[in-house]
Amino acid sequence: MERCGQRRGYVQSGYAQKNRYRYMYKSFSRIALIALIVVVGSVILQIGGRFLRQNISFQAGMDKADTSVEWNLILVNKDYAIPDNYDMELTELSNGEKVDSRIYPALQEMFDDARMSGLQLFVREGYRTWEDQQAIMEERIAEYQAGGYSAQEAKKMAESYVSIPGTSEHQLGLAVDINADTSVSSSDEVYAWLDANAYRYGFIKRYSSDKTEITGVNNEPWHYRYVGREAAEDMKKHNLCLEEYSESK
Ligand SMILES: [Zn+2]
Repeated sequence: MERCGQRRGYVQSGYAQKNRYRYMYKSFSRIALIALIVVVGSVILQIGGRFLRQNISFQAGMDKADTSVEWNLILVNKDYAIPDNYDMELTELSNGEKVDSRIYPALQEMFDDARMSGLQLFVREGYRTWEDQQAIMEERIAEYQAGGYSAQEAKKMAESYVSIPGTSEHQLGLAVDINADTSVSSSDEVYAWLDANAYRYGFIKRYSSDKTEITGVNNEPWHYRYVGREAAEDMKKHNLCLEEYSESK
């Protein structure tokens, strides 16, 4: 009986062990399968994310702007994109537009003096986020596509008028589009005053008609960029755009 009992016990425990192994094997394969799904899934997400980001950003493989220069001289254009980690403190203007806090005093002084001269002007646009610039670009591409151009043609045309996201000076917070309040002053009056005086406050007309080939941007008499008084005076005196000035440094 005793032996039999032992035997029975042995058989039973052997069976239970087999079951336990089977159970453990099932659990392990389940865990392995889950781990595999997690690994493969994250790889797919990463590759997909990178692919999307490159497509959205337009600037895959572009050089980044040199941020080792003085902050006011950072050069951003079709060849040099704003580095991803670029950060600035912003000050909000009375109309809700924002600019880099460091240019605010000079901008205010320039506007005060322009108003003393009888002009009425305002900042139509200051700082833009990456998403703002992206939206402007997409809107323009859609306009051209609606006009019958292919996706590729539309993108190319839009890029000749709108800065590629990541390459707009507005994203630096150092540029402002200045418009006339046309109920008081004409656009021409405001643009002429800015052209003659902005350098005194450290601002330059960034995209003038005689520098289009270098800047890659059409004439924009409203777009002013802060570079600091010293640089602005130098650029005005020698008729240099920021690309030429940066190269001469
Ligand atoms: Zn602008």
